Amino acid sequence: MAVVRIENLRKSYGALQVIHGVDLSVGDGEFLALVGPSGCGKSTFLRMLAGLEEVSGGDIFIDDMRVNDLSPRERDIAMVFQNYALYPHMTVAENMGFALKLAGHSAEDIKARVAQASDVLGLEPYLTRKPAALSGGQRQRVAMGRAIVRDPKVFLFDEPLSNLDAKLRVQMRSEIRDLQKRLNATTIYVTHDQVEAMTMADKIAVFNKGVLEQLGTPLELYHRPANLFVAAFIGSPQ
Ligand code: ADP
Ligand code: MG
Repeated sequence: MAVVRIENLRKSYGALQVIHGVDLSVGDGEFLALVGPSGCGKSTFLRMLAGLEEVSGGDIFIDDMRVNDLSPRERDIAMVFQNYALYPHMTVAENMGFALKLAGHSAEDIKARVAQASDVLGLEPYLTRKPAALSGGQRQRVAMGRAIVRDPKVFLFDEPLSNLDAKLRVQMRSEIRDLQKRLNATTIYVTHDQVEAMTMADKIAVFNKGVLEQLGTPLELYHRPANLFVAAFIGSPQ
């Protein structure tokens, strides 16, 4: 069964249409990479799913419940951003627990959830540090920890590795993928890096100018690209 179902999703900014009637489903525990060149609408698409951006048309379902009219916090979704968006004055533990505090969880429950997430992410030694005293990879883990503590149905990532150096980026790819499998987390992972998508994803959705050009497994896209755009983007032999 599809955990995420998107039907005819559209977005316009004034006269500029940036998402054109996209249909897309993501299965339970599936890792979908959403790829496409800069400006093709990836972030806009993700922000609509998270409820951070109003839709211009179409429907979003999570577990068959229409979530269009729910606030970001009411949706069973957590998003990890490129710039981490950590609070500089809070410790790692406080950063991870903050959303839970706002949502009214007890101090005890927050402590347990933060402990569990920091165990999964190897963050225990850093819980009392501030973000400024962390490396880029550690900050990225804290950003993931903030998502994990909420135990959401769906994880959204928006280019989470693009601020890291090449070596760490490759290491974090497999870390994220291992974690995603362990949690059986239904995931939509935005990247403009086709190698990242090809190595990490169960399925890839290729966007171009707000249009979904093709959805398929990495092998399907590589061997049977739907058109020249997909072939060029994926780097298929022609
Ligand atoms: P991507 O994440 O793939 O780089 P975006 O979703 O950020 O693409 O942007 C898609 C298009 O929408 C771009 O043309 C961008 O300029 C435009 N856009 C994004 N946000 C806004 C906004 N708030 N107002 C007007 N145009 C926007
Ligand atoms: Mg973007």
